[in-house]
This record gives sequence, C-alpha cells and structure tokens, in this order.
Amino acid sequence: MVVEANDGIVTTAGVVEGFAGAGATGPSLVIAALCTMVAGGIALAGARYAEEAAEREARLAVIEEERRQLALSPGQEMAELVALFEARGLSAGLAREVASELSAADALAAHVEVEHGLSMRDAPSAPLAIAAAAGVAFALGAAIPLLAVLVAPDDWRPGVVFVAAIVSLAITSLILAKLGRTHVRGVMVRSVLVGVTGMVLSLATGSLFHP
Ligand SMILES: [Zn+2]
Repeated sequence: MVVEANDGIVTTAGVVEGFAGAGATGPSLVIAALCTMVAGGIALAGARYAEEAAEREARLAVIEEERRQLALSPGQEMAELVALFEARGLSAGLAREVASELSAADALAAHVEVEHGLSMRDAPSAPLAIAAAAGVAFALGAAIPLLAVLVAPDDWRPGVVFVAAIVSLAITSLILAKLGRTHVRGVMVRSVLVGVTGMVLSLATGSLFHP
C-alpha cells in the first residue's frame, strides 16, 4: 500500500503544481488537490478491484477445469502429472511414486499446484478489501500535498508542496526499502525522480496556460 500512497503524493502534488503554474491561487488549489484525492482514490481502487477480481476468476476457472478433467479422465491426468515430474528431473519410477502419493492425498491440489503453479493453500483474495485499502492509501498520500496547500501562505504554495512531496517520497522510500529489504538509495532515487519529473512537467504544462 506504500506504492499507492506514493501514487497519491505524486499525482496530487503534480496537479497542484500545474494549477499553480497556470496562475491558480488559494481556494482553487485546495479544490484541485481535494478533487484529485477523491477521483484518484476511486480510480485506483477501481483498477485494483478489476485486477484482483480477474485474477480470482481465472484461478477459480483453473480449479474448476482441473476438477472436471480429473473426473472425466483420471488415467490421463495421472500420466500428465508423472510427465511433469519427469520434466522436472525425477526418474520415471520416482515420478510415478510421487504422483500417485500426492494424488492419493489430494489429487485436485496436486494438479492445480504442479500444472499451474497455483497453491490451494492460499486464501482466496478479497478484491473489495484490497480495492478499499488501495483507495485509502492513495487518499492518505494525497493528503500530504493537500495539507501543504492549506498551511502555506499563498506565494509559497508551489514551493512548500514541492518540498513536502519530496520529503514524504523520501520517507515512503525508506519504508519500501525496509519492506523489500533492498537498498534505500536506489528506491529513493527512483521514487524522488518520478515525483520531481511529475511536478516539473505538470508545472510546465500549467505554465502554458498562464494568462
Ligand atoms: Zn491436470
């Protein structure tokens, strides 16, 4: 969800810079940030929902198809499993042994896992919960540039939003690097670079329309 929060920071800060570049001040900037928070949060939640629901349906379809095939032609399915174990480097005898023991325990799970790489032990995903969390994370990220707009004096707004976005992106990079056990510097450079690029390009775009 840190990635979604980053998305909220970059998108909202970019919109604010663009509006500021076009000469918008005070309430217009607040409204721009607020609308980005709402629309962006909903768009991201919708995208995540579609993604998760599709994945869930694909997974259920695979399980259903394997169940059907096992009922229809168990012999052929067993041969398939043996062949897959042989392809992974087991000898013919051992492959047959492993396949029949796994099939005796839970034939459907064995096929779903070995043929399709899906684990039956994974809990089914919850698209709605994932979508809601993504939307909330985006809104929390968007709240940072929004707060910056609210507290900064009018002339300082573009600068304060810029700095607030960079600082918060640096902090989320620290969290991301800790979660992924990767190098902080690489994550931070990427993340801050995306933020700076977004804000500068948006500012330039808005400036084209400065009266
Ligand atoms: Zn099968």
